[in-house]
Amino acid sequence: LSTDSLRKMVQEQTKHVAICGGGLVGALNACYMAQRGYRVDVYEMRQDIRTQEIVRGRSINLALSCRGREALKGVGLEETIVKNGIPMHARMIHDRDGKRRPILYGTRDQYIMSVDRRLLNEVLLTEAEKYENVKLHFNHKLLTCNFDTGEMLFQNEKGDQVKASVDLVVGTDGAFSAVRKQMMKLSRFDYQQTYIPHGYMELNIPPSADNEFAMEANYLHIWPRNEFMMIALPNLDRSFTTTLFMPFDIFSSITDERQLMDFFTDKFPDSIPLLGQEALKKSFLSSKPLPMVTVKCEPYHVKDKAVIMGDAAHALVPFYGQGMNCGFEDCIVLNDILDQCGDDFAKALPEYTRIRNVDAKAISDLAMYNYVEMRSSVNSKLFLIRKKLDNL
Ligand code: FAD
Repeated sequence: LSTDSLRKMVQEQTKHVAICGGGLVGALNACYMAQRGYRVDVYEMRQDIRTQEIVRGRSINLALSCRGREALKGVGLEETIVKNGIPMHARMIHDRDGKRRPILYGTRDQYIMSVDRRLLNEVLLTEAEKYENVKLHFNHKLLTCNFDTGEMLFQNEKGDQVKASVDLVVGTDGAFSAVRKQMMKLSRFDYQQTYIPHGYMELNIPPSADNEFAMEANYLHIWPRNEFMMIALPNLDRSFTTTLFMPFDIFSSITDERQLMDFFTDKFPDSIPLLGQEALKKSFLSSKPLPMVTVKCEPYHVKDKAVIMGDAAHALVPFYGQGMNCGFEDCIVLNDILDQCGDDFAKALPEYTRIRNVDAKAISDLAMYNYVEMRSSVNSKLFLIRKKLDNL
């Protein structure tokens, strides 16, 4: 056999995978699948975020917990990310009278990390690109895919249509996944989508005049006000990304500066000097609250041809800080199952649905429950007694 025919044979036997969506989960999964020796093409609708000055999108920072760290460890990135994050050892509760009190997450040595979403995505894309069997295609929006043939159709930035044909389509294209939309046309696909009545708006607490953190750095700060809440996570530049979660009708009842200041003076008085009055007025009155959706569906796969992961499979409300973490864990779970099934997609994908679906649904319910805990239960005496007993 000539070298050329040998190379062709190897190429024919190598599994070819298309990952649709180069966000957090897609980029990590590209690394995992590259390690398995697959030929991986990542198709991302947006421009390459590494070349952009400002990236529009969701929350600026995220809480990374041990299930996410474990997944990053699997591709050698845990240390890089942890080095660039800020440990948060406890919640810091801000009462209405300005008093602050910490509530530990677990034992004293346990903590979660505040990490920068953009940095995380950039590091993951750069890592994926290091594998010679991975190719990244930006400005490629998935239009359709055929689960019988593995053929896919994308639109590029010029508006031209681009075709591809693969052994496996992996949908990591987020909460409004185009891959999942195609799956919804198949029979016996269960789907449930719920918008909660609350929206969120991001504000910012800048560093103090002497360029220090304006509050204690190693905490996830919470202003729980029962029906709604505000939280703040620290950033490396010593600012805090501050997120207000509130029913849409309360957001829309605040329409001018006076109403806004009355509201903050009543509900979050200690936050006003931290946010800065003028900056608060400017940000709040020029922004629109964003919605939050939960998606549950089943199965996560179609035959041996497609699988959905991350938010595409299980978008969660953000209150448990587990959406990304759970999506990262999906990558380990699928990788382990592919090991057990000897890379046989026909066996591995149904097993992935069987194992992952129950866990994802459970985390989704816990995330919804934690909204009540964060905005309300942390105010109750019973909750505090229980926490104190836990930490004895
Ligand atoms: P995404 O990050 O949405 O990425 C999907 C990618 O697919 C995007 O790059 C998109 O451009 C691309 N795409 C979409 N459609 C197409 C298409 N048709 N063709 C090609 N590409 C496409 N999680 C945590 O773990 N901890 C937290 O603290 C946390 N905080 C959060 C706070 C807020 C306010 C919100 C809203 C969410 C939070 N999350 C958190 C959840 C987390 O953001 C998501 O779970 C995570 O981003 C999911 O990653 P993903 O890669 O599945 O989807």
